[in-house]
Amino acid sequence: MKSADNEAPTELSPVDLRGYRAALESARQGKASAGIPIGSSLANSERVLAAAHNRRVQDNDPTAHAEISALRAAGRRTDHNELTLYTTLAPCALCSGAIVQFKIPRVVVGEWTNFTGEIQWLRSRGVQVLIMEDLEATALMHEFITSYPELWNEDIAHYGAERNRS
Ligand SMILES: [Zn+2]
Repeated sequence: MKSADNEAPTELSPVDLRGYRAALESARQGKASAGIPIGSSLANSERVLAAAHNRRVQDNDPTAHAEISALRAAGRRTDHNELTLYTTLAPCALCSGAIVQFKIPRVVVGEWTNFTGEIQWLRSRGVQVLIMEDLEATALMHEFITSYPELWNEDIAHYGAERNRS
C-alpha cells in the first residue's frame, strides 16, 4: 500500500520490524545502564544501519537523545532522504528538528501515550509518521517516568513551576 502523498510504504515491512526491534533493544540497554529507556535506529530499505539509546545521563550530554545518538552512530551520509527512523517514544522538538533538517521522510514510533512529542508538526512538514502503540515500550517508559520523575522532567526541559503544570 502506498500513501497518497509520497511513495514511502505505509505498512511495516520486515526491515521495519528489525529496525523497531533494534530500537527497542537499545531502549532496554539504556535502562540497564541506568539511563533513560528510549531507543532509536535508522534503516534503509534493506538493512538496519545503526541503533542507539538516549545517553544524556551516561554522557552528561543534554542533546544525547536516542534519535540524535542513532543519527550520530550512523555517521555522515548522503541518503538520509531515503531512510526510516525508528524510535520507541514520540520524538521531541529537538529530534523532530533533526528529522526535518536531514529530510528523513519516514518515522516509525513505538508509542506516544507517555509523551505526544511533535508528531503533528512532523506530519505538517510532510514526514510520514507510523505509530505502533507498542505495549512494551509504553510500559518501559511509564515505569521510568513514575520511578524517576525528576530525570524525565529534565529530559523534556520541564523546570521549576512548569513541572506542576504538566
Ligand atoms: Zn528528542
